[in-house]
Amino acid sequence: MSLNLPANFRVGLGYDIHKFSNSTGSSGDFPISNFNSSNRVNPPCLWLLGLEWPDYAPLKAHSDGDCAIHALTDAILSAANLGDIGFFMGVDEPDAKNISGKDILIKLNKLLQDKNIELINASVLVICQKPKISERRKDAEKVLSEILQAPISVSATTTDGLGEIGQALAVASQSVALIKYI
Ligand SMILES: [Zn+2]
Repeated sequence: MSLNLPANFRVGLGYDIHKFSNSTGSSGDFPISNFNSSNRVNPPCLWLLGLEWPDYAPLKAHSDGDCAIHALTDAILSAANLGDIGFFMGVDEPDAKNISGKDILIKLNKLLQDKNIELINASVLVICQKPKISERRKDAEKVLSEILQAPISVSATTTDGLGEIGQALAVASQSVALIKYI
């Protein structure tokens, strides 16, 4: 039986997880002395879904640690059969150090245009105990959709207190994207 699916559509899946820089996840508990502030424009805090979360500690990473954007990037790259974020950004490249999630998406959007690939839509799921995503879900969708010029939907869930994520030691994210070869 043939499904007759249009051959120029592809889906892709992405996943990422980063741990908080401290054991409480709160920015007030973050030891500023451990942070090389010359590498960032703003004081250390969480960046997630392209938004700044001043009350929460940053996630530990080579970049700004925005695991939701990293998962989204991986989903889009996978759908486009263009590898993954490590390959795309070059993990050890100086340019990738402390790069913001938004700058990754801007670079990704340009790559899609160069390759004649249209992002149809994407969904990003954040899995965390904190922060509470629902209050800023619409803001996040606006930021991500504007950069990628496609509807990006954001949702969130917890692990019901289970595991490292449930203890608010880490934030994880999954994403699915649909692209079309123009
Ligand atoms: Zn990451």
